[in-house]
Amino acid sequence: MPSRTTPHPDQQTRPTPPRDLGAPHTHDRPEHAAALAGLLARLATRDTRASGPVPGGELHAGRYDRSRRIAVRAGHGERVALVTLRPAAGCELDAATLGPLLAAILDNAPEESGDHPAADLSAATVHLSSRMRRDDRTPARRADGSAGWTVPGAVVHLERHTLTVTTPACYVRIALDGPDWTERAAAAVLDAALWWLAAPEARHMTRTTAARGWQRLGDVVPGAVGRDRHGHQAYSGLSTALCSCGWTSGLKDDRQYARAAARQHAQEAAAAAATDQNAASPLP
Ligand SMILES: [Zn+2]
Repeated sequence: MPSRTTPHPDQQTRPTPPRDLGAPHTHDRPEHAAALAGLLARLATRDTRASGPVPGGELHAGRYDRSRRIAVRAGHGERVALVTLRPAAGCELDAATLGPLLAAILDNAPEESGDHPAADLSAATVHLSSRMRRDDRTPARRADGSAGWTVPGAVVHLERHTLTVTTPACYVRIALDGPDWTERAAAAVLDAALWWLAAPEARHMTRTTAARGWQRLGDVVPGAVGRDRHGHQAYSGLSTALCSCGWTSGLKDDRQYARAAARQHAQEAAAAAATDQNAASPLP
């Protein structure tokens, strides 16, 4: 386990993820967290600049009036993101929760950054590529071209190549550098940010996919429960349940079965979280 040198007030109440989940955004990243904790500790004293290596790259941190900025450099030496961290009044920056975010940036950064303009990412595609979301609805685009949406405990805002996540504890702005950042890579970074910064309920937001309905026979997925119609079309009611933790039910014959699987998963996740919390805080 990482040394939690700057524990967040909410940290005690956050459930740890069930252990059989394989989604990258749920992974604890102790080396990145420890490196970040060291830099933040140096900035808390007399230093205004501090830098150091992490697996996959380097972090260059700077202290400003009300914020800390971390330039993330990948192994090829170029800056791939600039992260601005601003804790809310009464809160401290928590290296244990921000470390996995920095790791996700390095894991998903493009091979080269280059001196070209930054990518202009589609908010709708980032949203659809993200697992940490409530549903499939496209976020409304604002007049300035930006878009935003919410998950429990956090507000997300995306403008071109900049993701911001605002929670009651902190404001995190992630400016992705270079033209080669894709929506899929940005979504992976966002997933890590929301998994670690949003409310515990955001970790298990379930949804089910819409059935395909009537379609040409050749397009029907093998195994579909089909009914021939006019000899050309068949009905597919197949649906899948998905969760923001990365869990999926696999194909179910009908959406109601997918919904039932989602409910069962949510109950099991809540029970696992309660067990972990009891284990973490034994009675005196
Ligand atoms: Zn889940």
